Amino acid sequence: MRTQVGIVGAGPAGLTLARLLEVAGIESVVIENRDRDYVEHRIRAGVLEQGTVELLREAGVGARMDREGIVHHGIHLQFEGERHHVPLSELADGRSIMIYGQTEVVKDLIAARLESGLPLLFEVDDVTVHDLQTELPRIRFTHDGAAQELECDVIAGCDGFHGVCRPSIPSGILRTFEREYPFGWLGILAQVAPSIDELVYAHNDRGFALLSLRSPELSRYYVQCRPDEDLAEWPDERIWEELQLRTGLAGWTLHEGPILEKGVTGMRSFVAEPMQHGRLFLAGDAAHIVPPTGAKGLNLAVSDVRILADALIDWYRSGTTAGLDGYSNACLRRVWRAEHFSWWMTSMLHKLGEDPFDLQLQLSQLRYVTSSQAAARSLAENYVGLTTL
Ligand SMILES: Cc1cc2nc3c(=O)[nH]c(=O)nc-3n(C[C@H](O)[C@H](O)[C@H](O)COP(=O)(O)OP(=O)(O)OC[C@H]3O[C@@H](n4cnc5c(N)ncnc54)[C@H](O)[C@@H]3O)c2cc1C
Repeated sequence: MRTQVGIVGAGPAGLTLARLLEVAGIESVVIENRDRDYVEHRIRAGVLEQGTVELLREAGVGARMDREGIVHHGIHLQFEGERHHVPLSELADGRSIMIYGQTEVVKDLIAARLESGLPLLFEVDDVTVHDLQTELPRIRFTHDGAAQELECDVIAGCDGFHGVCRPSIPSGILRTFEREYPFGWLGILAQVAPSIDELVYAHNDRGFALLSLRSPELSRYYVQCRPDEDLAEWPDERIWEELQLRTGLAGWTLHEGPILEKGVTGMRSFVAEPMQHGRLFLAGDAAHIVPPTGAKGLNLAVSDVRILADALIDWYRSGTTAGLDGYSNACLRRVWRAEHFSWWMTSMLHKLGEDPFDLQLQLSQLRYVTSSQAAARSLAENYVGLTTL
């Protein structure tokens, strides 16, 4: 098999890249090691920056998002028993966020790809990438029991943090930066109308909690927990009790309902530099991870592939390699900004331990962010997505 761009991974990065290339008339083949149902139902992110929303619209895959997504113009920060509104749009030149699940973004992109009749292979095995420093890199894999080889002009490694592309770069080339946090999030998806109009980030002496949503009927709530928390110790009643304790306010009730899904996510910051090696370009979680507090993971993946698609379009149209050569540097500016913002939100909101000094620093920062326009504006422009990077 031969294609222009071989894409490993059908998550948000791989599927969005395939769509952008399709619109520009560039061929690609997407290979994914999971089945379609699994990929479409993997519950993860749910906050889209305005830039992500605009890109999905421009790529012709925004119609359902515009019908079913929920635009939010602010978030709430809760601490010391009070909830404070941060009016994101007012502070960030009218920009906003869209609540629309990653599952739905992925479903829309897969439907569009299949409708166009373009290659998207699920359940491939034994994926390996070769000849990365030649003009004809190759992807080998098995599909339907048969060994396949795909010759490409370039390979896009969009295969997430545990994929095969990043580890295929010879040792000594990548520099990695990493921070593990001593806590995780226990997240639930509950069949109950959200009790909130906008997301609530709650700082509490029992630990952090986040009230989010996926639709008018589905709530997505999280509590800070140990990174290796045993879900068996968390029957539904305990989760609701903990959410009530961490987010409760006089005169306001968190409505409970059946829990459809629950899981524990560890928290990590990670960056691999450079995000390219020869003709292999890493994008999204394959190259970097942020803790989810800043809602940046999916948005960074989309921002990477926007830069990669533009560079590939330039290359195919005019032969210039400037965009491809500068790909890693262009992405990393935004990546490191998001790394900082996600670390900052995480450090400000989570219970870090028993040190009273840490606690006072957090409370001071929260009071500052909710009382100073300058501080609130900084949070807002990072949260909705910076336009200046
Ligand atoms: C449990 C969890 C919860 C999260 N919650 C949030 C959140 O609340 N907010 C937020 O902003 N972000 C969240 N994130 C992060 C966000 O979901 C990711 O940043 C986003 O999915 C990145 O997209 P991606 O396409 O780069 O990677 P992925 O979504 O990981 O996609 C990679 C794809 O590659 C496939 N793949 C892997 N290995 C191979 C292989 N060898 N061959 C072929 N295919 C392969 C995978 O199956 C997958 O489909 C969460 C992440 C996790 C893991």
